[in-house]
Amino acid sequence: MSEDKKNKDGDSGYEDVCYLCRRPESVAGKMIHIPNNICICNDCMQKTFNSMDKMGPMFGMPPYMDMFGGRMPEHMEISKKQKLKKRGEKKKEKKEPEGIFDIAHLPAPHVIKGALDEYVVGQDFAKKVISVNVYNHYKRVLTDDLEDDGVEIEKSNMLMVGPTGSGKTYLVKTLARMLHVPLAITDATSLTAAGYIGDDVESVISKLLAAAENDVDRAEHGIVFIDEIDKIAKKRNTNSRDVSGEAVQQGMLKLLEGSEVEVPVGATNKNAMVPMATVNTKNILFICGGAFPELEKVIKKRLTKQAGMGFNATLSDEFDREQNILQKVTTEDLREFGMIPEFLGRLPIVFALEAMTEDMLVRVLKEPKNAIIKQYQKLLRVDEVDLIFDDEALRAIAKRAVEKKTGARALRAIIEEFMLDIMYEIPKDDLIGRVTITKDYIEKKGSPVIEMRGSGNAKLLSQQEAAE
Ligand code: ADP
Repeated sequence: MSEDKKNKDGDSGYEDVCYLCRRPESVAGKMIHIPNNICICNDCMQKTFNSMDKMGPMFGMPPYMDMFGGRMPEHMEISKKQKLKKRGEKKKEKKEPEGIFDIAHLPAPHVIKGALDEYVVGQDFAKKVISVNVYNHYKRVLTDDLEDDGVEIEKSNMLMVGPTGSGKTYLVKTLARMLHVPLAITDATSLTAAGYIGDDVESVISKLLAAAENDVDRAEHGIVFIDEIDKIAKKRNTNSRDVSGEAVQQGMLKLLEGSEVEVPVGATNKNAMVPMATVNTKNILFICGGAFPELEKVIKKRLTKQAGMGFNATLSDEFDREQNILQKVTTEDLREFGMIPEFLGRLPIVFALEAMTEDMLVRVLKEPKNAIIKQYQKLLRVDEVDLIFDDEALRAIAKRAVEKKTGARALRAIIEEFMLDIMYEIPKDDLIGRVTITKDYIEKKGSPVIEMRGSGNAKLLSQQEAAE
């Protein structure tokens, strides 16, 4: 007989024991098997049937089910503690995900900004604009159903202009995480007009639905971030059909304003096999972002033209020296850049982010809640090693990042480059207690300062030693 068969027959080599009186088969006689591998002896079964005749409720059961003569057998009794635990568990299951969809819990703009401040360095103006408009947006969503006084608050979709690595995506991500709303991030360059190769504009709603775990209600209160929006500017001097530029802007109009969109559930493309869901985009907050290169020239041209008129005329190169000229962006400039007026009309909030300066980059390295150096420090703390960055070292890193002209994006790559050796070498020696990253190390002129555990004396590790 195979092992499996043996088990199926219940012949495990052990004696059966009655579930109720705990007597073994050799004492109580043949057992009756009931599902879940439970055995009951004949006596207990008889008792059970007898008790069915007795009237008297037990444990809230109808009398005919009172198997135990009014008392639960000791081994089956559930202690008070267990009961409480079980109840507690149930409560946990029921716990709703925290959300803001209740006017009482809608965080005020200063609270939203405060939360953004914890992660995003600088960009005060942008954070303020976002906080106020997000607050207004959800207020509109929440009061929409409550009142019908004819006053309709307009949608506050936003358009963010800012250089690469200034924190556009990061701001939106932080915002969505803090508000517990689903977020879909998409790249405008991947979108094409419906019917052409590439994703059509509705695919962003499909992504949002996926981010909301296919919960249409949640998706309808979510945020869509469309990056690189400048790449769908109207192409000038072209005779061919502009399927990835102006046509995409046209295609997005309905979405931005609010319309019902049929999207596939659990897939990105529509086909007969995929179930569809209807998502209304009326309450979805759309945020578009882009670096808009060359926009500075457009702004400068406008400013120079304005300033060149009348008595206060200024020199034409007056604005060349201005640092954050993007801050002066207007809808007109964006139209000149190639965004169509209907599209801009649906993004009423336009604002710019500052370019990251050296000082800001130093702060990005050490201040945010999950700053890069904090992450490395945490990693080394597991090996019980203190990791310290000299202020000068941080500045040297920021300097190198500025040269790369990719904003805060460059920081991680720079740090990773020289942390690789540290992360490789340190775990080799259990005696190392502290590593200090110096400016010389960043500039490849020296090495980090290594201090041994307990010695208190700094020991300079020469390049040669490190190589050994
Ligand atoms: P972009 O403006 O090009 O969308 P991102 O938001 O993607 O730039 O920024 C890239 C990374 O740089 C982010 O993941 C974040 O870690 C960091 N970063 C950028 N800007 C900031 C900032 N202002 N404060 C803190 N970290 C930032």
